[in-house]
Amino acid sequence: MYYPEPIAKLIDAFSRLPGIGPKTAARLAFHVLRMKEDDVIDFAKALVSVKRNLHYCSVCCNITDIDPCRVCQDRTRDASVICVVQESRDLVAMERTKEFQGQYHVLQGAISPMEGIGPDDIRIAELLKRLGDETVQEMILATNPNIEGEATAMYLSRLVKPFGIKVTRIAHGLPVGGDLEYADEVTLSRALEGRRELS
Ligand SMILES: [Zn+2]
Repeated sequence: MYYPEPIAKLIDAFSRLPGIGPKTAARLAFHVLRMKEDDVIDFAKALVSVKRNLHYCSVCCNITDIDPCRVCQDRTRDASVICVVQESRDLVAMERTKEFQGQYHVLQGAISPMEGIGPDDIRIAELLKRLGDETVQEMILATNPNIEGEATAMYLSRLVKPFGIKVTRIAHGLPVGGDLEYADEVTLSRALEGRRELS
């Protein structure tokens, strides 16, 4: 309508991103217009590459360019402890603390009846498969301290009970209702240290 079609399309594309309103989308689109062509090409390639070259690790379900991922391949890590997180970004937040030397499992979401996301919609089957062999002795539930994260933690602790594995939940030094990825390293380390066993 007001803009030539190529720029209107770009504004539309940006406005589909989370947290980007129409004004910001327009500002970003006009910024792209002013960028050097090489930089624009690199940017476009990065977008395509993230879809084409990344997939889920066949062990922990983290996003990875190699399979199994680097964490799963690392023999120096303790395979008897699995830290369960919702998103790949949470794994990165945990790794930044440098406190955790075990393995991870990335659920790629959380149970949310409100949004119609059930246990079968996240990577729980893959987790159960890993708990089947006798290596794993502790599962740390590091899902977010909000309704969905708590519901997921409760569901998993009940589900895993028959396996005879120790199930712990990270302590709530973390703000309730918050996201793990925004927690600073100190808060997250404390939360990990203060984890408790779920009964
Ligand atoms: Zn992995």
